[in-house]
Amino acid sequence: MTRVYNFSAGPAVLPEEVIIQARDEMLDWHGTGMSVMEMTHRGKQFMAIAEQAEADFRELLAIPENYKVLFLQGGATSQFAMVPMNLLQNKKQADYICTGHWSKKAVVEGRRFGEINLAASSEDTGFQHVPPHQDWKLDPEAAYVHYTPNETIAGVEFHWIPDSGKVPLVADMSSTLLSRPLDVSRFGVIYAGAQKNIGCAGLTVVIVRNDLIGRPLVGTPAMFDYQIHADHNSMYNTPPTYAWYVAGLVFSWLKRKGGLAAIAKVNQAKADTLYSFIDSNDFYYNPVERAFRSRMNVPFILSEQQLDEIFLEEAKKAGLTNLKGHRSVGGMRASIYNAMSQEGVETLVEFMKEFERTRA
Ligand code: PMP
Repeated sequence: MTRVYNFSAGPAVLPEEVIIQARDEMLDWHGTGMSVMEMTHRGKQFMAIAEQAEADFRELLAIPENYKVLFLQGGATSQFAMVPMNLLQNKKQADYICTGHWSKKAVVEGRRFGEINLAASSEDTGFQHVPPHQDWKLDPEAAYVHYTPNETIAGVEFHWIPDSGKVPLVADMSSTLLSRPLDVSRFGVIYAGAQKNIGCAGLTVVIVRNDLIGRPLVGTPAMFDYQIHADHNSMYNTPPTYAWYVAGLVFSWLKRKGGLAAIAKVNQAKADTLYSFIDSNDFYYNPVERAFRSRMNVPFILSEQQLDEIFLEEAKKAGLTNLKGHRSVGGMRASIYNAMSQEGVETLVEFMKEFERTRA
């Protein structure tokens, strides 16, 4: 068996220890004679798995008591709708900060439900930076402020939490949650699809402050109502049981690794290794303004575009996969989430050096 270094943006590499544990528990979970896939979600075995996963997740992020954690389906894309359906309430409009592909999608979806004020956007300059906070046109009467702390495609990250005053702050953390410590108390809602740093696809995690739920827009379906999911401990209907279990394995792996402060150091070292190599030569180029570079998704462009396909082919032969950049940006992108090792990043850098030496 050979495992590759998988730089996919998502579904992404998982810690090998987690996959091995899932394999070992596959046919017979803890002497039950069945796989987690085959268990009723209402039974005491799955309840124990679910509760432990939530407890570990709360511990990792130090989530305050006055927040609910929901284990849902539908991806981060469903949250683009669930957020306005639950948070617009009696307000006229919400503020959105648009810094890339995903925040733009959130804006478009939000407009189905209410007036969306584009308080700031970096679209006119190709989504390569975050507009300065002092230029944001925030409305103190907005229902909430929505932003995307890490734009997975262009690789643009906020390295601070914006101040939204009394207005609840909502964040799509799909590609950054669990990559470093976070002050959850600064947020009204945090959501993330699981298929990057949390686990496998099929699960969407939502952290929501208690006082923000219970007043959905008229006509909101039960499956889109945070209150209903909260009242039923995310078991209003059949939850994504296996993905919830895998997330639990990832949380316990993270705890063994020393938690979020420890993983943040590893992540910073990986990003530093890759960016400092990219910046040290003229063959590779990262277009994002330095202050906003993502620690999770690192796009890079080859100075000779006609070499893109050869680069990808040779990388694959060397066991380095899924480096193709998103079609809207082109070039390459290395996603280096929690489960990518420093060794994986160093192997990539060595490959890039060698490619440059032989092709440039
Ligand atoms: N937001 C961000 C920041 C993402 O990276 C993604 C997926 N790559 C999405 C939203 C969409 O997530 P999903 O496919 O889970 O709906």
